[in-house]
Amino acid sequence: MPLAAGYLKLHARNAGLEDQFEIDILPTPLANSLGDQALVAEILDRDPWLVGFTCYLWNIDRTLWIAARLKERRPDVRIILGGPEVTADNAWVLDHPAVDFAAIGEGEQTFVDLLAALIRHDVPADTIAGLHVAGRPLPPPRKPLPNLDLVSSPYLAGILDAADEQLLLLETIRGCIFKCKFCYYPKAYDDLYFLSREKIVANLRHAAERGAREVVLLDPTLNQRRDFAGFVRLLAECNRDRQFTYFGELRAEGITPEIARLLRDANFTEVEIGLQSIDPVAQELMDRKNNLRSFERGVRALRDAGIEVEVDLIIGLPGDTAESVRRGMHYLQGSGLYDEVQVFNLAILPGTAFRHEAATLGLKFQPRPPYYVLGTPTLDLFDFYQLMAEAEDLFDTEFDPLPPPVVPNAESAREGDLREGDLREGDLREGEAPAEPDRIARMWRVDLDDAARQKPRPPGERSQAFTLWLRSSDFDHDASEAVDCVTRLLADNPHTTLQVLLEPTGDPERITIESLDTMRRACFRTTSYLDRFYAILPNRTQGAKRLVVLIPNAWQDRISAEWLDAVSEFATVVPATSAGDAAPIALQSRIVEPVPTGSATHIAENVVGSRREPSV
Ligand code: SF4
Repeated sequence: MPLAAGYLKLHARNAGLEDQFEIDILPTPLANSLGDQALVAEILDRDPWLVGFTCYLWNIDRTLWIAARLKERRPDVRIILGGPEVTADNAWVLDHPAVDFAAIGEGEQTFVDLLAALIRHDVPADTIAGLHVAGRPLPPPRKPLPNLDLVSSPYLAGILDAADEQLLLLETIRGCIFKCKFCYYPKAYDDLYFLSREKIVANLRHAAERGAREVVLLDPTLNQRRDFAGFVRLLAECNRDRQFTYFGELRAEGITPEIARLLRDANFTEVEIGLQSIDPVAQELMDRKNNLRSFERGVRALRDAGIEVEVDLIIGLPGDTAESVRRGMHYLQGSGLYDEVQVFNLAILPGTAFRHEAATLGLKFQPRPPYYVLGTPTLDLFDFYQLMAEAEDLFDTEFDPLPPPVVPNAESAREGDLREGDLREGDLREGEAPAEPDRIARMWRVDLDDAARQKPRPPGERSQAFTLWLRSSDFDHDASEAVDCVTRLLADNPHTTLQVLLEPTGDPERITIESLDTMRRACFRTTSYLDRFYAILPNRTQGAKRLVVLIPNAWQDRISAEWLDAVSEFATVVPATSAGDAAPIALQSRIVEPVPTGSATHIAENVVGSRREPSV
């Protein structure tokens, strides 16, 4: 849901700029599904004059790659970036040669001022607060909008529609009264900025009229409002028939049984709560104190009211030791005060106090998103792997598991690459339009035993999530050809989420460890966001690329346990007959005592990654 782009368009409209500019938001299904070069082609098809990107951890690498390709093809196109990745201390983004303008801080006014200035000049003649212009000194800071009514809302203005995803995103406050040093908010907002009661009601009426099933409140700390009980009553009034659920992030401290009941009456079914660390030194260093008794009372009240609580913990905070992190995990597990737990690695985000103090605090972190911390004076990379593995054991879960491999329907794919019409049943929900245009391919199938090979579809006609399906009677012999295929696809579209299916046509054990290692190295020769995100998790190397081995029926009882174990270190092994979401044949091997060696270490140290941000 492109809420940020909707805000920009609405603010420009309100400033009367739509007489001068046509502002087009790329439809979400295209933005979410097209491959890198297909996105470039889609954008250029619209003959743009200025292209804007809203950037966060997970898309900044790809955004800069796309911006560079746009500039190659259309050097006259101007590029502007905005979003939390655009901060004064994030030079690798601001100084990128494809970037003409970048909005630092809240973007709506800056965007409108830029458009107004560009009516008369190629580059704004005067300094605009918050607008970085390539080659110029950093601008003065942008003061936030006095209230959120000025941009609320793109739904009410017909720019976005809650019916599209049966979802409404609602921001009723910008800013946070707390000052957690790992968080971007305290630096970006000096105060609290509100949406009026009238606008809240109008947005929720839109949600009801358009059939929304969920309203996600984006406020940084939902219960930081003075009149929180009144606010929740208002949410309940606007949802009398409980058509939609509410979701938000809270601090548990201060939640009483009465407030919890109000939340349940409004139809909050789940909330997210940050605990982060129970260690006093870590709490002091991150400037966030937790009162455990108060936390316990709040969580208990919520759960007693029937609201599910997801609690967040962070690994890697300065001041924490392996022992104190363990104490935090065991405290939470022992108390039973959670329905879900999410354990995060600390990210040293641009624009945060921790980023500014990183050198003083002795924090090493990935230089690219998700900017995971790689070492503190009291924790090293080994501790991060070990503690995350322990957390998964303790809470009996795998954090951020990859979805099961998708095995396309073999019969429909026989003739070559998979096209929209070849999607297996169940790929689309009833009434749902195909995400990509017909020309977009999702697969390239190559028979390595056959000299006459299908070519892949052109790079600009491939989807973002792509399958390379390789068949061979001897993968050990054909490994270098397999590597060529992988390399080709990733060179064309480096941010592809690539699934490499290996279908042996002879003895599966000709898929040797050496051949898998060679293919895996080709997959991770360059890293994208997801690779770096997963690199610091304790499982085998995984990320935006994965190897999947298909075992033919005839071989399923004949393969050796040793081979299966060894292969599972590199690939998910599934039955070849399965189409759709395939269950692995054997549990993936885990690195029980993870030693950060080989490609995982390489990937971890060569970037940043972003899981969701920890909650309040
Ligand atoms: S982490 Fe949450 S509570 Fe802390 S400053 Fe950020 S938004 Fe506020």
